[in-house]
Amino acid sequence: MERERKSKVSMVVVVSNRLPVVISYKRDKLEIKPSPGGLVTGLNSVRKSRGTLWIGWPGLLGLKGDVKSSVYEILRIKDMVPVFLSREEYNRYYEGFSNKTIWPLFHYFTEYAEYEREYWDAYKRVNSKFAEIIIQNSDADSVIWVHDYHLMLLPGLLREANPDSRIGFFLHIPFPSFEIFRLLPWRDEILKGILGADLIGFHTYDYLRHFLSSVKHILGVEHVFNELIIDDRIVKVDTFPLGIDVDRFVHAESDIFVRKNIEKLEKKYSGRKVIISVDRLDYTKGIIQKLSSFDRFLEEYPEYRGKVVLVLIVVPSRWKVGYYRELKEDIDRYVGKINGKYSSVDWSPIQYFYRMFRQDELISFYKISDIAIVTPFRDGMNLVAKEFIASTWPKGGVLILSEMAGAAIELSEAIIVNPNNVGEIVAAIKSALEMSPVEAKEKAKVMLGKLKRYDVYRWVGDFLDSLDRVKELQKKSVSDLISGADIEVMLSKYREARKSIFFLDYDGTLVPFFRHIKQAKPDDEAIDIILRLGEIAEVVVISGRDKNTMDEWFGELPVNLTAEHGAWFKRKGKEWESVGEVHSDWKDEIRPLIEYYVDKTPGSTLEEKEFSIAWHYRNVNSDLGYMRERDLVENLSYMISGSNLQILEGNKVVEIKNAEVSKGRAVRKWLEMLGGDFIMAVGDDWTDEDMFKSLPDEAFTIKVGFGTTYARYRVKDFRGVRKLLLSFINK
Ligand code: UDP
Repeated sequence: MERERKSKVSMVVVVSNRLPVVISYKRDKLEIKPSPGGLVTGLNSVRKSRGTLWIGWPGLLGLKGDVKSSVYEILRIKDMVPVFLSREEYNRYYEGFSNKTIWPLFHYFTEYAEYEREYWDAYKRVNSKFAEIIIQNSDADSVIWVHDYHLMLLPGLLREANPDSRIGFFLHIPFPSFEIFRLLPWRDEILKGILGADLIGFHTYDYLRHFLSSVKHILGVEHVFNELIIDDRIVKVDTFPLGIDVDRFVHAESDIFVRKNIEKLEKKYSGRKVIISVDRLDYTKGIIQKLSSFDRFLEEYPEYRGKVVLVLIVVPSRWKVGYYRELKEDIDRYVGKINGKYSSVDWSPIQYFYRMFRQDELISFYKISDIAIVTPFRDGMNLVAKEFIASTWPKGGVLILSEMAGAAIELSEAIIVNPNNVGEIVAAIKSALEMSPVEAKEKAKVMLGKLKRYDVYRWVGDFLDSLDRVKELQKKSVSDLISGADIEVMLSKYREARKSIFFLDYDGTLVPFFRHIKQAKPDDEAIDIILRLGEIAEVVVISGRDKNTMDEWFGELPVNLTAEHGAWFKRKGKEWESVGEVHSDWKDEIRPLIEYYVDKTPGSTLEEKEFSIAWHYRNVNSDLGYMRERDLVENLSYMISGSNLQILEGNKVVEIKNAEVSKGRAVRKWLEMLGGDFIMAVGDDWTDEDMFKSLPDEAFTIKVGFGTTYARYRVKDFRGVRKLLLSFINK
């Protein structure tokens, strides 16, 4: 009953590999304890207002019969649904594909990544299992929020089962650069799986960029303003840096336990500077490098011996797996070595804990520390860095932070280091120890401000609101599709008008895209439509094409022409005129570069127009084409910086033109020349957006295809455009 009521206000179904509980079953006794974490806290208000259901693996293997049913029942009461895994599934899907393939690869440890067919098969099976359970436990109104790298196929599976689902996906680890991601044998499937979501979230802009570039290179789908069109559906990609519950850390002393613990620890470390280090046992965390830096620090600055303590907390994790076991042994050995080398009767440089602490215990450690050293080789975000800054307020702890952690983007006032550069870390430790309390507090204040502005509550709210907005956008883009009633309104305005003017883009608008640019010659139907429309109204074909081609195709028709995105104008029956003083001597500089790309990219061509140069790569193998395109754009951006040139990245074409030439200026000029009280403009790509923006509000602007636009209406494709124009011709 309760669930039914909640589902009406779009309940949020949170899906993650693990449920936020710790279950133990010993000597016939079942114990289920909550395991609070940032996400649980962040979801609290959503839980109250909309209702949540959490679906995931409960963390125990081999449960059978009655015990399994009991776990199920208890979890249901807590609004959770377990996905039970067999030992084999756990080994291959979780330990295997998730942690031996994706984890190392996405953290740039390519040499650790294992590509095993059976891991992949299990990953597919378990993702399907999750999908089934989600489908059984949600309804059409539910918001499904899928978390992390264990479940990247899930959005696609859910979309397949229910095309209208409301699905968000958030990746908590880095998304690697295309050059790394492409190594994955199942890269297409993974991308398609993620793209089943409506909203895809990453911690940082770099991860987002890498994802979009992989989608473009591998699937050939381009984005416009971080939006992709997948099967006529808008998919939004955005950044949401995971935050923390700042107050919990700042005000933790209100808890008597924390206060007592702090007292104990202060006594223990009294008179010494404390450097805290907290990591899960993982090769991505750079623990050995950190130890090596601390070793060198004590070596190089003996005056600090006896005055500093490194509290090294390593949380056991996946320790049965080869690399982890070796890492653990290396850490043990190194800690022993450093302590053996420098310890005195009353001081050991490293206090090493190989165990997990409850968060309130951990906060006590943070609070008594002066410095935190967070130096992972790669880390999606790293919450320890954020928690330390919040916990040490108002004292103001000093943070040494790896530039490879997602958190470094926000916490830029930290001492940022390259984790591979031991010398730099040594210097950072020294300057952290010597930083004045005033400076430390000043920096911490700025960082705390950022943490407060985007805390975990805001993170949850922001993600869910964005998801709602994408759904609205999708609905709108479908409802924007021109209806019969819209056409009636347009026709009646058209009949009332004294003079009508139609601005029509060409490629992708009047005709579809072709493999070769010359193949896009207008077919009979297109010619017939332009001809007949030209007899009853002013028609301006406004294209990026060169003027000779336009002459060849439309010269005999009763229409006006604009070539090269607005560089050339030709009134019906008159000669071509250029837009005015536009320089083109820059082409001599750019041409050799484009020629070089044509030479080394078989199938690509150079198109030179009066005021622009274009490099086309529609016929190039898609991987190579995109790789070259990226390269070329980078080179061009460098060459043209500070000039008045603009790079247009169109559909399989890169074009460089004078920035003062645009379709927006062109339509304004045409309106001055011809006038018109009924205005229609139709176009498909972002050069046409200039045109839509520049026209008066009452103009009927029409976008061909989906995606964000300034146009008021849209049609699906060139067929829709023809149908629309025919209704004016046959009115
Ligand atoms: N943590 C904890 N007890 C410990 C060590 C860590 O509760 O003994 C918590 C810590 O407060 C933080 C999380 O574990 O919230 C670690 O998150 P982080 O993003 O730093 O690293 P991850 O382990 O997710 O890679």
